[in-house]
Amino acid sequence: MTAAEQKGPDWWANRASVILRTTLGEERFPIDVEQLALEWTPMLDPAAPITKVAARELEGCDGALVDARHRGKGWGIAYAKGMTEGRRRFTIGHELGHYLLHRHRAPEGGFNCRQEDMATWDHERSPQESEANRFAARLLMPLDDLRRQIPPREAVSLEKFGRLADERYGVSLTACVLQWLEITERRAILVVSREGYVLWAKSSKPALRSGAFFRTRSASPLSVPPASPAAGGWLDPGSESIPHSAGVWLDEPVVEEVILSDLYDLGISLLHLGDHGGHDLDEPDELPDALDLMNTRSGVLS
Ligand SMILES: [Zn+2]
Repeated sequence: MTAAEQKGPDWWANRASVILRTTLGEERFPIDVEQLALEWTPMLDPAAPITKVAARELEGCDGALVDARHRGKGWGIAYAKGMTEGRRRFTIGHELGHYLLHRHRAPEGGFNCRQEDMATWDHERSPQESEANRFAARLLMPLDDLRRQIPPREAVSLEKFGRLADERYGVSLTACVLQWLEITERRAILVVSREGYVLWAKSSKPALRSGAFFRTRSASPLSVPPASPAAGGWLDPGSESIPHSAGVWLDEPVVEEVILSDLYDLGISLLHLGDHGGHDLDEPDELPDALDLMNTRSGVLS
């Protein structure tokens, strides 16, 4: 293992951010990850850089890091045709992450990554996939920049997330909210559902610490409460925040914002919790993973 390979995803994402900030300044957003891969990797590994980034018909995969060294062509990144721009950008970032972090330990032929691999944040279960995702998220949405865009105490609306995701970072709404949940000081939970059932949920750290989270990995599927617009697929497009009393989502009041994603038939609910609701767990025996996945084919990056 080389010294560079021992560096983790945060180190590499930070390194890339420094280069982009130095060369492009404010103009660096949204990150042109394709250009970065093609121009940066020849400096890192002149003998085997990334030489091509292209759309392909990929059977059952969203992206691939292709080993073309036997043909003297270094490595290539392929992404599935027909993706949204946000998913395309994240996928290329994910494969660049594999190149930087894992190419010396790559399986024969390279990496083939399925849609669920792009939604894997569980390091124990799938270290390489979760590291590639962590790199991609931190490359596309650097935490220092996200902190400048959203003050830590701000109760951000889904509408603002939508703008940041579309205009600044060029990523999916869910990818942007997930990154914010890593750093916010507010108590909030993102719940992604389909047909009235919770697919997965992620709590911010303050929410998790106060015991506000959903266990979606357990055997029985968790239903969306009937009072939520995500329960029955009805949604008034003009509706904004919906206040729920205690007992609807949690044993405390929450304010819910929902959008329905027609792409994957998903309900995306952002639950805003009060500052003083819940109770701090003194010595939690067991906390769930921040991102608790029941069904990984949930279009986390839709
Ligand atoms: Zn992968």
